Parts: sequence; C-alpha cells; structure tokens
Amino acid sequence: MAERKKILVVDDELFFREVLKEALSGRFDIIEGRDGQEAVSLCLAHWPDLIILDIEMPSLCGIEVCKILKAHPKAQKIPIVLFTGRTKKKDMVLGLKAGADDYITKPIYMPEIMARVEAHLRTTDFYSDLKQQDLRFLLEITETISAIRNPMTILRLIVEKVAEIIDVARCSIVSINEDGDAVVKASSDLSIHDELKLDLGKYPEIQESLKSKRAVIVNDIKNDPLMATVQEQIQDLSYNSVIVIPVVKKESVIGTFFLRTATPIKDGITDRIYKLCQLIANISANALENAILFESVQAAQEYFEEMAIRDGLTSLYNHRHFYDRLEEEFSRARRYGAPLSLVFFDIDDFKRVNDMFGHARGDQVLKKIGQLLKTVARESDIAARYGGEEFAVILPNTDEDGALDVANRIHTVIRHHQFEHLDDEQITISTGVSTYKNANLETFSELVEIADNRMYRVKKQGKDQVACG
Ligand code: GH3
Ligand code: MG
Ligand code: MG
Repeated sequence: MAERKKILVVDDELFFREVLKEALSGRFDIIEGRDGQEAVSLCLAHWPDLIILDIEMPSLCGIEVCKILKAHPKAQKIPIVLFTGRTKKKDMVLGLKAGADDYITKPIYMPEIMARVEAHLRTTDFYSDLKQQDLRFLLEITETISAIRNPMTILRLIVEKVAEIIDVARCSIVSINEDGDAVVKASSDLSIHDELKLDLGKYPEIQESLKSKRAVIVNDIKNDPLMATVQEQIQDLSYNSVIVIPVVKKESVIGTFFLRTATPIKDGITDRIYKLCQLIANISANALENAILFESVQAAQEYFEEMAIRDGLTSLYNHRHFYDRLEEEFSRARRYGAPLSLVFFDIDDFKRVNDMFGHARGDQVLKKIGQLLKTVARESDIAARYGGEEFAVILPNTDEDGALDVANRIHTVIRHHQFEHLDDEQITISTGVSTYKNANLETFSELVEIADNRMYRVKKQGKDQVACG
C-alpha cells in the first residue's frame, strides 16, 4: 500500500482544526498546529506533503509563515493552502504574493477542500521525480522559447536542450506532413537545415503514438513486441529505449509533432525522463502554437501590405507606390549626387486592340507587358503600371545613356513579342525618357512631366519611338 500523505493543519481555532481533521483524516495523516511558530517548527520536524494554514493567528500570522517557509530551500516545495474568512481578500492577495500556492475561504465546504488538496498533492507527485536542476531547466526553457517567434528555432532549441539534460543517443522532433510523410524537423545529432524524410514503416513507435495520440515508451526495443516488424533494422542500434511524445495542444496535435528521445540507459526510460519529456512537449506545444499563429498572422499582414502597393492585373507596383518610390529615389539621388532616370510609355492604339479582340484580350496584353517588363528591368529598377495602358520604370543610379538603353530594350521586347490570340497583330509603344543629373531639376514632378511630354511628342510624330532629350 502506498504511504499515507501528511497534511499539516494550522489554525488557532480548535473548531476549524477539528472540522479539517474530520474531513481529511480518513485519507491522510493530520498534524495539528495552533499558531505560526508551531507551523514553522512542525513543518521542519515532520516535512508534511501539504500545509493548510490559517492567516489570522497570534504570534506569527499565516503570511509571515508563508514567507519563512518559501524562503527555506527544502520547505519551499511544500504546497501551502491559505485558509481565511471570505471578507479578507486583501490578506489573501498578500498571502499569494508571499508564496502561498492556493487559498480556501471559510465557511468550509468539504468537497472543495478535498478537491484542492488532491490537486496539489497530484502536482507535487508529478514533480517529485524531477531534480532541482530539472526544474530550473524547465523554467529556463519555458522562458527562452516563449520569446521565440520562429517555429523552426523553437524545435531546434528543444532538441538541443533535451540532449543537454538527458543522456540521449538522439532527440528529434518529427512532424507528419499533409501527405502523411514523416519528416525530421530538428535533431540533436544532425545539424540539418534541410528536412529529412523518414520511412514511417521503420518506426512503429511513432506510428503507434500517431494512432493513439499518446506517449509511447519502449524500454527494450530489441525485445518489445511493438518493434517486432523492424527487428532486423534495429539490431545494431546503440540505444535500447525510445520514448515518443505527441506535442499536443488541448485536444489537437498541432501539426502532428512528436518528440522522440532515444536513450542508452540500461534500466530504460525512468519516470524522470518520461516526465521531463512530457513537460517539454507541453511547453513546446504552447510555444509552437503561438509561433505558428504569429507566422500566419505575419504572412497575412505581409500579403496585404504587398497587395496594397501592387496593381491587381499586372502585379507591377501601382500608381501610388510609384510616386512614393519616385519621391524617395529623387531625394536619394539629390543627396548623393547620383543620376536618376524615368522611362514612361503608353501602348499605341490600344483602343483598337480592345475593339478588335475584346476587353478581356486587352487585359491579357497588359498582363503580358507587365511580365515582359519584369524580364527587362534590373533588380533595382521599379516598374509600375502608371494608369490604364501607361507604364513607368524608375531607374536609380542610371544616366541618360543607360535609360535609353533600357527603354530601347523594352521597346524591342514588346515589339517582337507574339501576343496570344491577337492574329499576328503587333503591339508597339511610345516612350519618353527623362533624367535627373547634376541638379538639373528641382522636383520629381518635373521628371514625370518631362518624360510624359516626350512620350506625347512621340505620339504626335507617329508613335512607336523612344524620345530622349
Ligand atoms: P494612343 O496610341 O494615342 O495611345 O491610342 P490609344 O487607343 O492607346 O489611346 P487612348 O488613350 O485613346 O485609349 C486608351 C485605351 O486603353 C482606352 C481604354 O479602353 C484602354 N484601356 C485602358 N485601361 C485598360 C484596361 O485596364 N484594360 C483594357 N483592356 N483596356 C484598357
Ligand atoms: Mg495608348
Ligand atoms: Mg493612354
């Protein structure tokens, strides 16, 4: 039979001590104390598993007792449940700040007391196999990973940390992707940046955990029936125990992550290892969920930000962004004394294209011109759809010759492109180029005006040309 747990009940009123004793003595050994001084001395003499402590007492009050015990290196682990009148909420807050773990208010309601006592004893039981060093480690890992926003970094950190504290042959985090493939996302013995695919058929323990959504512990892999199908493959392994823990958030396995730890320990997976892995899996679940959520929110935000500056049809920059960037580039050019050019073009007789082939085909042409433009433009160039069938390209650090060269290339590429469904109809453009150099202009609007005027001059003179100067 399991040893009975000890509860220290401290209250200056006999009535309450009796009531608590009555309620708890059937299941627990009760030690009674009448004041704060006794609370401390009885605690250090008997080392109870839990303390129920009245706040208002002569000599040392409950809050003082809390402070003393929670400062004691060994006693601090004993849960303290405070106990006082309902009207003394302020004292309760002080008590919790002094380190108390919980509180109950008078009048006494027995089922509540039992439930709380049991809950606290369960928690202490759970942690009892862990070493002080483990608890510090858990705290440290919680603090570290909760601040990380990148799921992959979290996974790598977890395996690193587990390998640090447990004698492992390997600790890895395996994820099952949408196609049902098992992929190693992080591993303590590999510095992988690429994902590594696993053949799930060789890992019955992962399959079992995936199916049951529970932890699977195999203490002797070479003799366990679960591993029967893979005996040949595992004969040469250097470890003999494996634990697989699903990383679960509430009821759902988030993205089906599994913490798999293989250890060479002779007596198998101890309670300590199991609990540590379980706690780490829980901590990871929270951090991962937050990180995954953060990532998707961030991706959505980036998407919307990008959409706001792009033209829907061509996905070139839109009119507004064109002006924002032009203003920026103009002041940069002025500051550094660098040249800046602008290429402006308008499709010739586009109305006719629409009339002949329909508006939808016209749209296809605009889209294609957007693509062609991207193939000609350099990384640093800023290509935009200025208006209906008008386009503009900002060319930073580019003088007149360079701009003319770009303009001619655009011209040629469009002129020679065979547009789909246009019955060999050729598309041409009229282009104006302007350049800022040696402070020849005051504002970026002048740069636009000049390019625009030159473009119109080409229109008047018969179209399909580049005008520069
Ligand atoms: P020009 O050579 O003088 O430029 O003649 P144009 O017909 O191209 O010029 P105009 O300015 O008279 O007409 C522009 C045409 O471009 C009219 C309009 O229907 C068409 N257009 C503008 N935006 C779009 C668009 O988004 N899709 C389609 N399909 N056509 C457009
Ligand atoms: Mg036109
Ligand atoms: Mg036009």
